Amino acid sequence: MIEVRIHGRGGQGAVTASRILAEAVYHDGKYSQAIPMYGTERRGAPVTAFVRIDDVRVRERDLVHEPDIVVCLDALLSKRQGIVEGLKKGGLALLNYPHPPEEVPLGGEFNIATVDATSIALETLRRPITNTAILGAFARVTGLVKLESIEKAILHRFPGRLGEMNIAAVRRSYEEVHMPKPAKIKKPTEAAAPLASSGYGVLRSVADWRVFRPVWDLDKCIGCRFCWIYCPETAISWDVEKNKPQVDYRKCKGCGICVNECPVKAIEFKREVV
Ligand code: SF4
Ligand code: SF4
Repeated sequence: MIEVRIHGRGGQGAVTASRILAEAVYHDGKYSQAIPMYGTERRGAPVTAFVRIDDVRVRERDLVHEPDIVVCLDALLSKRQGIVEGLKKGGLALLNYPHPPEEVPLGGEFNIATVDATSIALETLRRPITNTAILGAFARVTGLVKLESIEKAILHRFPGRLGEMNIAAVRRSYEEVHMPKPAKIKKPTEAAAPLASSGYGVLRSVADWRVFRPVWDLDKCIGCRFCWIYCPETAISWDVEKNKPQVDYRKCKGCGICVNECPVKAIEFKREVV
């Protein structure tokens, strides 16, 4: 049996990825199981899902604790040692990461493959939803599932144009994945901190949830306060003296609501550098 653990953030489609993968494996004539693990219903919060693949019926019902394969949909999470916790010796970490495996700062006795799934998703889907953009890479580097089966499972879930766009993402990731290399660092440089986060507080920041950062041009701002009102994380406060918004980036998860709500386009969304 092959056990897979998928890490992502709320909104990236980790649970959907697990379901598409399990269905694709079924189309290949194997047995499979997808298990979602929900935390808070909060866009950007860490999410985990699991898949089991076997030639015989899968009877286990537990979560996967020692995966053969770890898949990470988020480029910033891909640098966190916690995502490879429990990964079997000689296992595979398939990461959404914009650089080759040699540049991944994770340590251990496993192999690393990378694909820039965020760029692929932005260019094919126009949104940083990286789940399908990594499944093509999964088919290529593991050989556990056929590309056509993933495409069939995607069309079943997303018929029509949306399905075609997702298939374009799958095909690009199949072509563009950096094939597995042994992790360069043998000993982890960072203790495997827990990934689950209840969000902002005295000791916590949601800054690393962001794919994009809102940047204000206060000269354009007309002081309508829409961004301040609609921010779901209370990351924006009001500077009464200047009658302008100010942001605390530790609280900003990059949801983009402020950008959408601003009536004069005074807020620009800029991609974070990984
Ligand atoms: S992107 Fe804007 S609305 Fe979203 S959390 Fe950041 S400041 Fe708030
Ligand atoms: S929504 Fe735009 S115009 Fe209104 S306060 Fe915010 S930045 Fe200023």
